[in-house]
Amino acid sequence: MQLLDGVKVSEEILKEIQSEVAARVQNNKKVPHLAAILVGEDPASQTYVASKVKTCDFLGFKSTLSRLAPDTTEAELLALIETYNADSDIDGILVQLPLPKHISEDKVINTIHPEKDVDGFHPNSIGKMVLGQDTFIPATPNGIMMMLQHYGIDTVGKHCVVIGRSNIVGTPMSLLMSRNTNPGNCTVTLTHSKTKNLKELCLEADIIVAAIGRPKYVTADMVKEGAIIVDVGINRIEDATKKSGFRLVGDVDFDTVKEKASYITPVPGGVGKMTICALMQNTLKACKD
Ligand code: NAD
Repeated sequence: MQLLDGVKVSEEILKEIQSEVAARVQNNKKVPHLAAILVGEDPASQTYVASKVKTCDFLGFKSTLSRLAPDTTEAELLALIETYNADSDIDGILVQLPLPKHISEDKVINTIHPEKDVDGFHPNSIGKMVLGQDTFIPATPNGIMMMLQHYGIDTVGKHCVVIGRSNIVGTPMSLLMSRNTNPGNCTVTLTHSKTKNLKELCLEADIIVAAIGRPKYVTADMVKEGAIIVDVGINRIEDATKKSGFRLVGDVDFDTVKEKASYITPVPGGVGKMTICALMQNTLKACKD
């Protein structure tokens, strides 16, 4: 079994981006500027946004973080996005999801200017991705593709089972893996909560991408010998031995599944690290275009 080490791969890619930014500074070119918006006080969201801002600092990007109260109205949030749309210094806009229930995620995503849509969630970006046109690809699936590419994993003709059909992970992942690209060129099965024979499908999979949001859901008896396992899940489970009282586990039962897998991502230190990396690459792209 080989670990797909998101820490190591993301460090390498981030260093390349850092050098590119340094070269831009030397040549008096603009440095990328990411504007992040966090609504409310969800602890996981706070951690994600903080780590994105920290990565911006490391790379030499500018960043602006707006922390909005949980009772911020939809109109107030849309107005702030419009301000950022009009600000020529801001290259990328990121609104941390999920949003409080009284705010429409669709309206928020649709309001971000497609040229600043570094999360790749705008219908323009998704449509272009489906057509194989140059665009911003959602960060988590893109980060996974970067990881597969980095390890030189041959995916051509393989059967990839994606578990979960969210707009931000499962659905774009299934599209990317089925495209005529490398990595890609898989035969893809997209499964979800209504899938009846998940275990049988998983047992036929050469590659499993688990994006469910249920701790250790994919167990060793669901996995074929030699399968490639990509674990997107980030779940908090109670752990009295930790100061925080919890620890993070994936959607895959890592300890048992690793015995059968040829490659597997750990949680933490796998897909999450690659997600930030892909977001930063999109922000650099937004600055250059
Ligand atoms: P989501 O809740 O939007 O979607 C979950 C999907 O899982 C749904 O499509 C649902 O149909 C499917 N599902 C639920 N129960 C199922 C079952 N029993 N069998 C098969 N499918 C089932 O979640 P999401 O936003 O796609 O996130 C999934 C997980 O990935 C979460 O743990 C989330 O925290 C994590 N995540 C990680 C990153 C990262 O950077 N590593 C990024 C985004 C999300």
